Amino acid sequence: MRLLATSFFVSSILLTGFIGCRPAQHETSAADVPTQLPRNARPTHYSISVVPDAANLRFTGSETIDIEVLQPTDSITLNAAALEFQGVTLTDKANKNVEARTSADADKQTATFKFPSVLPSGNYRLAINYTGTINLHATGLFALDYDSPEGRKRALFTQFEAPDARRFIPCWDEPNYRAPFDLRVTVPPGQQAIGNMPQSSRTEKPDGSSEIVFATTPSMSSYLLFLAVGEFDRITTTAAGTEIGVVTKKGDGEKGRWALEGAAQILPYYNDYFGVPYPLPKLDNIAGPGSSQFFGAMENWGAIFSFESVLLNDPAITSEERRQAIFKVAAHEMAHQWFGDLVTMAWWNDIWLNEGFASWMGSKATGVIHPEWDPLLARIASRESAMNQDSLSTTHSVVQNITTVEQISQAFDAITYSKGQSVIVMLEDYVGEEAWRQGVRNYIATYRLKNTVTDNLWNAVEHAADKPVTAIAHDFTLQPGVPLIHVQGAECIDGKTKVTLRQEEFSRDNPKKEPLSWRVPVIASTLGGADVRTLVTGGTGNLTVPGCEPLVINSGQTGYYRTLYPSPQLERLKGAYSRLKAADQIGLLADNWELGLAGYESPVTAFDLIDAIPSEATDDLWSRATRILTETYDLYDGDPSVQERLARYASAKLTPILKRLTWTAIPGEKPNDAVLRAELINALGKFGDAEVVAEANRRYEAGDPSARSGPLRTTILDVVAWQADAAGWEHLLGQAREEKKPLVRNALYRLLGGVRDTALAQRALELALTDEPGPSNSGQIIGAVAALHPDLAFDFALQHREKVESLVDISSRSRYLPRLASRSADPAMIQKLEDYAQHFMTPQSRKPADITISIIRDRIRVRQTRLPDITQWLAAHVS
Ligand SMILES: [Zn+2]
Repeated sequence: MRLLATSFFVSSILLTGFIGCRPAQHETSAADVPTQLPRNARPTHYSISVVPDAANLRFTGSETIDIEVLQPTDSITLNAAALEFQGVTLTDKANKNVEARTSADADKQTATFKFPSVLPSGNYRLAINYTGTINLHATGLFALDYDSPEGRKRALFTQFEAPDARRFIPCWDEPNYRAPFDLRVTVPPGQQAIGNMPQSSRTEKPDGSSEIVFATTPSMSSYLLFLAVGEFDRITTTAAGTEIGVVTKKGDGEKGRWALEGAAQILPYYNDYFGVPYPLPKLDNIAGPGSSQFFGAMENWGAIFSFESVLLNDPAITSEERRQAIFKVAAHEMAHQWFGDLVTMAWWNDIWLNEGFASWMGSKATGVIHPEWDPLLARIASRESAMNQDSLSTTHSVVQNITTVEQISQAFDAITYSKGQSVIVMLEDYVGEEAWRQGVRNYIATYRLKNTVTDNLWNAVEHAADKPVTAIAHDFTLQPGVPLIHVQGAECIDGKTKVTLRQEEFSRDNPKKEPLSWRVPVIASTLGGADVRTLVTGGTGNLTVPGCEPLVINSGQTGYYRTLYPSPQLERLKGAYSRLKAADQIGLLADNWELGLAGYESPVTAFDLIDAIPSEATDDLWSRATRILTETYDLYDGDPSVQERLARYASAKLTPILKRLTWTAIPGEKPNDAVLRAELINALGKFGDAEVVAEANRRYEAGDPSARSGPLRTTILDVVAWQADAAGWEHLLGQAREEKKPLVRNALYRLLGGVRDTALAQRALELALTDEPGPSNSGQIIGAVAALHPDLAFDFALQHREKVESLVDISSRSRYLPRLASRSADPAMIQKLEDYAQHFMTPQSRKPADITISIIRDRIRVRQTRLPDITQWLAAHVS
């Protein structure tokens, strides 16, 4: 799965063998795998037939499951949620039928079939007739409505990760229960269906409907099953003998061309990297018109699902950042086809193994195929997002203990994705690229069509590399937190720099705590010199680095730790800043900003570094600086005089860069110039930079082509919406109402929430509660309001809690409300969140509220204790 994180103004993607009961095949045994289901039976094959009634949001299903009863029992329990049973029959080998009595447990999301007598161990067939619900948010089988030239249309899709296949079929809905699936579906006249496998037959019925049968899948986990039904276009190509397709609503096929071409480049790379060719006959990527608060795309085997915004390249609206994201998301989801689908974690404790690996693999493939996008620099941004969560005391370890459905949903976070990715970056570097790949190849070959635990991967890599990678991996995945490498001293002796390091722990909210202990692979160099490696063990390390130029720790930025330099070393680095490697410039700035906010040093160090950025620096460094300036501006919320001074400083720094880039793409410019251009316009617009605001408004009001269509469209509208007055807001609303293209319409509705004026923000909230925007847009509007008016949005959502929750995917409900408050700096919000958690969350599910509380506490602390230094610095540097 690919998470979708949108931040204010920069709406960006940051951006997821025990076979049944055969533990003897490798180290995993049933006892290791927590489960909600009894272990007395397992499925060996599913055959499913569904007839959706899209208009009435219902479907009927009939299913036969071949099962093996492992211990004599008179009852079988499997997963089912929101399904109604019409009849359950068990057939034994002698073809004797018995009817089961059915009972459901809504809390546990299970159904139990009770039989009149004990079933001996052996093979049986269960036949189940049932009905279920089609949801209006992306859970189970769900509907997405959209406008088309022929009027309103409805298409159906499925989303089963983590535990929602049980809303579509009664099943053993845990990843370790692999089985082949046969799926057939009845579709109305003129509609198509897409499944994991190619269609094997289509039979027209007398009433004009058709029954579509898909080929049998390989043995796989239930969360990877997929079905889509609607009026679709499908464009295809062939890569390395595999048919690749992009499926869109009718008329949009060509907008999938960019994604299709990307997939055709990625697939052969993965065939080679994994050493096992893509195992299915086809691979589709299906576009859904709409959005989810939870995810952007999902790796169903052979049938990746993506929301249109991360799959379709529409010249009318797709920014350069989004165009790149389309490729990156596909690279992530396609990595899962091997790492996740072919080899699957046994239980959700190891979900990071799927998501961290796919994030890492996706960025690696992108680095090979599109080096001009600098995806290896972008990995530093991903590491930063992980460290932000990981340095608060509410963090958790990468491998975590998951026991409830709710905990499964909560596990999809920056620790799972971005820390997972960052730890792999570090370990790959530690063992070497070749040894790492050999380990991955051995792992895939050994465990294909099986389930694994994290240590299976470490063992494979350790064996291939002959280096003690498991111990380091355990330090970083079994315990939470961020190591701090504290440079104790650096001395130049005989042309070499002798360095002493101490390992501490970087914490934002508890810096005095006794540090945890990590074995930390550290790479160091002096400016322009060769890298030297050491493993800091037991809290200390010593290094001798050739050369006496300024010392860089974490050279190349592959390490998952922060570095604290003593003042003399830091001053030398500041002086040499423009000569550092691009990655180290970004890493040094990010580290010192966070160290300053946490209180390890003055927060103005980062401002000194921003002051030292050469104008020809990489787009990624300017992007990091822009983010820091924007974050600082937000921290000063409520203090307009300092905000104004900071805005003047930011304008002086950033305007020359925007002038160089100009508002119009320059032929032959670097792709990331276009990304930075949009970021600068966004940020300067937010700072109220008169020139940028006027230019955005001029283009909008004059109906300039760039405001109507093209890569800057959303950026210009962001600025216009942010400072809109009532008339301007109404005008945007009118545009949203008239817009027929879902991709554009959705973006316009979200913009209505991104308004600075409080009264208009209130109107946006009220609009979100009406049927007008559609449920997925409503959630986006409220989220956009929360980015600027967190207290208003939270209070409103709490007041209308049931209605608001009905707009949100089931899997993100517990997080949705607390997250709305996460930009608050109001001490009163802490109690509100406590009350919310008390009333509406269980002790096991209150983590999202606790995380938000810790973020707000931290923001209050930063405002009180860290901002005064910055205020002084600004006074000294800005007239
Ligand atoms: Zn994923």
